[in-house]
Amino acid sequence: MTATNPVSIAVAGAVSSAIDSGLDRLDAQLLLLHALGKPASGRAWLLAHNLDLVPESASAAFMALVQRRLAGEPVAYLTGCKEFFGIELQVDTRVLVPRPDTETLVEWALQVLDGLAARAASAEMGDFGGPVCALDLGTGSGAVALAIKHSRPAVQVRATDISIGALAVAEANAERLQLAVHFSQGSWLQGVNVRYHLIASNPPYIAAGDPHLSDLAHEPQQALASGPDGLDDIRAIINQAPGHLHPGGWLLLEHGYDQAARVRELLRQAGFADIQSRRDLGDIERCSGGRWPEIGDPTGGWTVR
Ligand code: GLN
Repeated sequence: MTATNPVSIAVAGAVSSAIDSGLDRLDAQLLLLHALGKPASGRAWLLAHNLDLVPESASAAFMALVQRRLAGEPVAYLTGCKEFFGIELQVDTRVLVPRPDTETLVEWALQVLDGLAARAASAEMGDFGGPVCALDLGTGSGAVALAIKHSRPAVQVRATDISIGALAVAEANAERLQLAVHFSQGSWLQGVNVRYHLIASNPPYIAAGDPHLSDLAHEPQQALASGPDGLDDIRAIINQAPGHLHPGGWLLLEHGYDQAARVRELLRQAGFADIQSRRDLGDIERCSGGRWPEIGDPTGGWTVR
């Protein structure tokens, strides 16, 4: 910095002063790129231009963003975008910020869909003639539904959310990404009157009194909290899903770090087969699911992979 121009600062200096005030390096880089009007993919540009001076207006915008980040606003709300499973989603305070943990749910969904498509192709399952159909419940920004459609264009994807605001965000993302997902409003399976081969959901699952909720105060609480034990919405989905799954279809749910055993038990009580859980990048059992049995199918038992 010089005495004549107190806001004249180089790219590297701007990033390190934000880190000194308490930001993660990645957050500082993403906010600086945003202030400079560059895409989130431009981190290499920052490194290549670390001695460039940041224009005064961008520097002022960056400092304001740093302050908001320090006060707890998620970076994704400040920049308006978030990368998820290889697609760029636009997000705002109407939707939960998509988490890397949820990519575990998408990966599992794609494996299930590939297995179902292979069975359909071999004509093993009478009911599976025609396209494979997937449903995302509580879609928020559309992250799960759009990632599935982007990765497997042949799958027919539908998504629901109770929040009109969230559906507006999801529909705008679908439009911008040119992904043909059908969105509709409703609480879980309310208003859904056909059967699916796959139902996936990242529902609210934090217990109402959990202190972690206050760390997430900027995000819609409706998308986070779910009754005294955090399982109210998961119970509702597990109870409603069997009437909306083809025999042999799968229900996959994301849940809290300590809920896997309880979710498997709920799936077992509801009559699901092949019940299992999947771990996220932090090695936490993050998703559990099961298959709705076909006639003559031996049920029960579960495995953790
Ligand atoms: N995984 C999120 C968190 O704990 C919560 C997401 C959710 O409730 N679906 O930060």
